Amino acid sequence: MRWKPGPGSPPGRTGGGDLIREVPTPNHGERRGGVVPSLIVLHYTAMAGLDPVVRWFGDPATELSAHYVVGGDGTVVVMVPEDRRAWHAGAGSWMGCADVNSASVGIELCNRGDHPFAAAQMAALRGLLRGIMDRHGIGPAGVIGHSDLAPGRKIDPGARFDWRGLARSGLAVWPRAAPREAPDPARFRDRARRFGYTAGVPDAALLAAVRLRFRPGAGGPLDGDDMAVAAGLIDAAPLLG
Ligand SMILES: [Zn+2]
Repeated sequence: MRWKPGPGSPPGRTGGGDLIREVPTPNHGERRGGVVPSLIVLHYTAMAGLDPVVRWFGDPATELSAHYVVGGDGTVVVMVPEDRRAWHAGAGSWMGCADVNSASVGIELCNRGDHPFAAAQMAALRGLLRGIMDRHGIGPAGVIGHSDLAPGRKIDPGARFDWRGLARSGLAVWPRAAPREAPDPARFRDRARRFGYTAGVPDAALLAAVRLRFRPGAGGPLDGDDMAVAAGLIDAAPLLG
């Protein structure tokens, strides 16, 4: 379905039962080069509550926005039509694409970054993702985090975000199981790059980004488990069945 935000629209419910509000913002532009969305970028807001975020994205002075903001109670605020370029990704790169805003739909999840994501919020996110993926033919590998495209600069949606659960729902991918290997930074980088991590960042920033999503809580230098994750990324897939 095609969202048509308009001021004063009454709240409604999607098929998934999630509360929808439409709050248009002027903070968007044309997708450059006629690009259609092939990615969905997940963020956390690092702010408490939904309304302050919606006001922030509605203020032209911030030059920031997202297509959707999802509150902790599962409320979905529609702010930018999907055919427009929202301003959420900033500098970075994924699969060689440096203008991620033109190539993506951005979703902000209300979360300060230091607490779990609420079940109602995750349920709303899953419904939202299914719709966006259907409308644009985006597969599970196209659902990424801000930290994936901007290693060393961004850490959202953070270590508390349940990427494995999203992969079990078919809405993201997870590395296949692979054996541990001797640490090899060049090989690790090559594998991560083939998965999509193309931002030109130091080894430590790349390792931190991969761990944040696939080995949250892991520390220390590159190890055999990191190598296994990187090997498993080559044919990562949803965790179905
Ligand atoms: Zn972000």
